[in-house]
Amino acid sequence: MMVSVLVGRERSINAVNYAWDGGRILALIAQKQINTEDPLPDDLYGVGVLAEIVQYLRVPDGTVRIMAETSSKVCVEGFADTGEFLVAAVSSMHDVGHSDTETEGLMRLVRSQFEHIVHTGRQVSPEALVNVASISEAGKLSYAVLSHLSHVPVGTRQALLEINDDKQRLESLLKVLHHEADVLEVQRHIRARVEKEIGENQREMILREQLKAIQEELRERDDRGSEADEYRARIRDARMPKGAEERALKEVDRLERMPYGAPEGVVIRTYLDWLIALPWSTRSEDRLDIAAAAAVLDEDHYGLEKVKDRILEYLAVRQLAGDTMKGPILCFVGPPGVGKTSIGRSIARAIGREFVRVSLGGVRDEAEIRGHRRTYVGALPGRIMQGIRHARVCNPVFMLDEIDKLGVDFRGDPSSALLEALDPEQNAEFSDHYIELPFNLREVMFITTANFLDNVPPALRDRMEVIPFPGYTEYEKHAIAKRFLCPKQIRENGLEGTPVRFDDDAISRLIREYTREAGVRNLEREIGAVCRKVARAVASGKRTRLTIKPKDLDAHLGHGRYRYGTANERDEVGVATGLVFTEAGGDVVTVEVSLIKGTEPRLTLTGQLGEVMRESAQAALTCVRSHASELGIDASFGGLLDVHVHVPAGAVPKDGPSAGITIATAIASAATGRPVKSNVAMTGEVTLRGRVLPVGGIKEKVLGAHRAGLRIVILPAENERDLDDVPDHVRNDMEFRLVSDVAQVFALALLPPVAAA
Ligand code: ADP
Repeated sequence: MMVSVLVGRERSINAVNYAWDGGRILALIAQKQINTEDPLPDDLYGVGVLAEIVQYLRVPDGTVRIMAETSSKVCVEGFADTGEFLVAAVSSMHDVGHSDTETEGLMRLVRSQFEHIVHTGRQVSPEALVNVASISEAGKLSYAVLSHLSHVPVGTRQALLEINDDKQRLESLLKVLHHEADVLEVQRHIRARVEKEIGENQREMILREQLKAIQEELRERDDRGSEADEYRARIRDARMPKGAEERALKEVDRLERMPYGAPEGVVIRTYLDWLIALPWSTRSEDRLDIAAAAAVLDEDHYGLEKVKDRILEYLAVRQLAGDTMKGPILCFVGPPGVGKTSIGRSIARAIGREFVRVSLGGVRDEAEIRGHRRTYVGALPGRIMQGIRHARVCNPVFMLDEIDKLGVDFRGDPSSALLEALDPEQNAEFSDHYIELPFNLREVMFITTANFLDNVPPALRDRMEVIPFPGYTEYEKHAIAKRFLCPKQIRENGLEGTPVRFDDDAISRLIREYTREAGVRNLEREIGAVCRKVARAVASGKRTRLTIKPKDLDAHLGHGRYRYGTANERDEVGVATGLVFTEAGGDVVTVEVSLIKGTEPRLTLTGQLGEVMRESAQAALTCVRSHASELGIDASFGGLLDVHVHVPAGAVPKDGPSAGITIATAIASAATGRPVKSNVAMTGEVTLRGRVLPVGGIKEKVLGAHRAGLRIVILPAENERDLDDVPDHVRNDMEFRLVSDVAQVFALALLPPVAAA
């Protein structure tokens, strides 16, 4: 047979090398006791085999592996030590063969016993069986079987090798095999017993674990079952449209199937809570009694006649047309604090609806209006659906504040989402990204508010009916303070039981010296501040006057912040007073012009002027030059080519074309040396040829002029009709000069030249 031998000892390697280089014949002889020392002849058995090296391989670790084919059994006659290795003198041994039935029987027994060992034990590889099965010679069979029993002690195997009679050897081998089988049997028994013991312990442990898991699962299933049932009941109570209900129930099924604690469960629960909380078909009953509504509106707000009228009209149409009417979208435009929000609240009260308010200021992301898709972590519905949920009915008065402060950026255009919510053609099926189901917004009464219409996205502006809130006159503010703000603040500061009262003059002083605004928000705040001071004094038992007089304000609020009237006190050259329209309502601005000698015509503009105002100044300058001869000057202003226009006033950015005639007047004054009348204010756009064009915000500007103590106002003729909006008590105080050409302005505003000193 072929054997593979790993040769490690130096002496053995020497022997192998020697053989490999020569006749390639080795005597392979077993060592009686395995140890690492070099064996002496006495340590070796007397019988071995001859083998011819057929393959020689040097392994990197220094050892040598050889393949050798054994040929015959030999008996060692003697050893000689070369110093490098042992040399043996051997003589061949010859086995005695048999071919009788007994031998045949022995062979079969050996085969089957060997097979048994291979199957039960793990020491012999099953391939050995194939090898052994093909051998029909008794001697070869015994040696082959023997060669596979590597776990049998060497001594036992050597003894078998030394037997020369095949039959005897087979018998001995059979005994060895039987013994092996017994040992295996005993091993199996022991292993089985040990395994059983360990197994039982483990089994119990595993079963207990399983039991625990099952119990937990059952309890959660119960919990979840009852949670799911609860959800189902709530869904049915929520009176959703069919599609929504189906969807919600499907989500409940999903929740029920979900393993306990799955993060998705939270997402589904939040979603279901949203679906249930939305007022799909919960609505409040409208109170469509016009007279009663009018009473409510008057009760809450002073003035604002146009607004109230429009609201009553709306109610009247509703009453006649019923629910089929498409809700119009009202847009309240005006400066802060003029009551846009509070009248919205009043409207809701007047018709018996819920009121919700959502501010759109700073919204730049479409998702803030329409929600985030649920795949986002922490996704929520947009502000519209949040507002609806808050309202708890599907037909609230829904106020969208500050739509002029909507931004547009890379995250999508929020105004298009808003449009979808507001457009009566689309909003019956408003779809929020989070909710994913169409929600009917048709019954919602949307009201939007803005400070400036110009900043409202045009697409939105188209859908809305604009109702301007122009800002209050001092007279109106006085009335509002007396009738609404003072009682409200007295009430809110716990002074109801005390006879606190604001004197009329004190209110006037508050309006003039402590506030400067178109609305009444700061006024209300100042009144509140006074009330707090009084409350504190009352509570701490100090003596304090309960009727607030003008001089008490200094003690309570400090000195007034604003000076009443900013009109020029003297008639000056190169200084004209214009009227502007700002967020705080109408106001006056002074335009100053200086002419400086220069070689090149130049126009310098300062005072934070916007692009439109700069162009308007250019136009004004050209216009004055083209009117030079009428003014009795030359078009180059006698070499004063460098024109500097300055618009002071608090570094506030200013823009708009309406200062055109004011700038032209200031330039004309500077060029001619004729002073401008200080009690005249003006507004109007001017063309190159001197035509005066109409401008906006007349009512506010007139109110601003009036507040500033200016009594003569020059206005474009085409703005005449706007004067109807000016309250009578103001109009009666003022003189209006309507002009269509800049020459008329000059005639009205410029005094004769002062004699050169
Ligand atoms: P806006 O929404 O226009 O900025 P608000 O509605 O917040 O202004 O109004 C500010 C305060 O002024 C509120 O307390 C409001 O009640 C009060 N107010 C405004 N206008 C009137 C009015 N015409 N009559 C009574 N109170 C008013």
